[in-house]
Amino acid sequence: IASTMMAYPLTLTHLLERAGKLFGPVEIVSRRPDKSLHRYTYADFVRRAKALAEGLKRLGLAKGDRVGTLMWNHYAHLEAYFGIPAAGGVLHTLNLRLHPDEIAYIVNHAEDRFLIVDDVLVPLLRQFEDRIRVERIFVVPLTGQAVPEGYDDYEALLAEATGDFAYPELDENDPAGMCYTSGTTGRPKGVVYSHRALVLHSFAAALADTLAVSHRDTVLPVVPMFHVNAWGVPFAATMVGAKQVFPGPHLDPESLLALFESERVTFAAGVPTIWLGVLQALDRSPRRWSLVPGMRLAVGGSAAPEAMIRGFDRHGLRVIHAWGMTETTPLGTVSHLKSDLAERPVEEQYAYRAKQGIPVPFVEVRVVNDDGEAPWDGQTMGELQVRGPWVAAAYHNQPEAASSWTADGWFRTGDVATIDPHGYVKITDRVKDLIKSGGEWISSVDLENALMAHPAVAEAAVVGVAHPKWQERPLAVVVKKEGAEVTPEELRAFLADKFPKWWLPDAFVFVNAIPRTSAGKFLKAKLREQYRDIYGT
Ligand code: ADP
Repeated sequence: IASTMMAYPLTLTHLLERAGKLFGPVEIVSRRPDKSLHRYTYADFVRRAKALAEGLKRLGLAKGDRVGTLMWNHYAHLEAYFGIPAAGGVLHTLNLRLHPDEIAYIVNHAEDRFLIVDDVLVPLLRQFEDRIRVERIFVVPLTGQAVPEGYDDYEALLAEATGDFAYPELDENDPAGMCYTSGTTGRPKGVVYSHRALVLHSFAAALADTLAVSHRDTVLPVVPMFHVNAWGVPFAATMVGAKQVFPGPHLDPESLLALFESERVTFAAGVPTIWLGVLQALDRSPRRWSLVPGMRLAVGGSAAPEAMIRGFDRHGLRVIHAWGMTETTPLGTVSHLKSDLAERPVEEQYAYRAKQGIPVPFVEVRVVNDDGEAPWDGQTMGELQVRGPWVAAAYHNQPEAASSWTADGWFRTGDVATIDPHGYVKITDRVKDLIKSGGEWISSVDLENALMAHPAVAEAAVVGVAHPKWQERPLAVVVKKEGAEVTPEELRAFLADKFPKWWLPDAFVFVNAIPRTSAGKFLKAKLREQYRDIYGT
């Protein structure tokens, strides 16, 4: 027999309409560049997102046309998140931390037709504007000043709307969004998200056992909206009608903590380097901010050190460790304690929480090495491969990158991992960051996370450096906590009872800061380059 269900498409326009009908009075708060707060409601947001869609249609936006955004996290970016797909277009978020040459390459490769740019980012735009081919550039007057000569005014575009806008006919498999990988390990590659993928991903992110984004939350994505759609948080939050708070360009710990406090934030998401800074600020003045008890912090993008999870626990904040990639929209695995682990000793529980977690529904995981598919024994390492309805099956216009998929259709993540009998994935390293010493592998991630548990260490990155005898040996690059002192011998001794002797870094160098990628991850390629002669090759 045939199913008797309706064929109802999974499109973002449904989320937008629903939000307008049900959540009109709920607030959306954004920090402007001058640090003042912009406040409005879902009713305003939905009206303006549709005004944007109407304006784009009037300008002739055709189905599938790309509209690039060069914007911080704020209300107008949220309008673009929904307004562009509602017009049938593709929201293409541009990473403003990339080199201007690289942004130009990405705009041209994606063939963006229009751009929407924050007024405070016009100086950045001017650095590559002569090299891109776009039809119109709309500038968002966040500072309240007139839009500079030569650009279109985003507010004027919205002001022209009649309110009489009909959504185009959309298929759930139509493209809605686009994001380039930040290129930590190579040339940026474009991923195109369908409506269906973004909608299903929103459901997955809202589950109680994943990020648990609900109507009762006040959410604040610290992770940029140009980095895998701020991990899908704005889509999920709009689906459930959560209050949304956006930090604008102010991502320093004090500004974030002030916003968490004043807006009563219950859920925030960001990379570990952001949270390390926040934790240090809290440790310095534990009573200065009064945050919502039990506030959840989603941490991903690189491994959440166990010491950080413990640290936030001491302040009554709950870290949720998650793993994902641009190619996986990004949610792949999330770490919560399974019920059969709840009675385990606290030490063991932390070890599970520090893993990247179990796969979310509809994401399948496997670990593959030269011997085939690895058993789920928590020991056997291999490449993590995934598949699912929000996992990319190809890159945009990049047929030569087909080697990222296996013959049987799984995506090769480039991450080395183990899976334990409970189903928890643990990322050992990126293939390119693994340290190959004397024919054996050393996990740089395990070493740096252990170092970050030392009371004098603020941050630590470990990289493999060429060695005349061992091929590569680990080097630890360490940032000390303010006012703290520690010697290489002490750090070596601190690691000695946790790892085999041959894992221990041969050298420790102390620096003021570790270079970061555009997404806030440790830039290990730079460290390898900088210290490549340290072991005398
Ligand atoms: P890029 O590849 O440019 O860094 P992505 O944001 O897509 O851009 O990065 C995805 C990668 O980030 C993953 O392949 C993995 O190496 C790393 N990653 C993401 N989350 C975690 C995590 N929780 N623990 C360890 N590594 C992570």
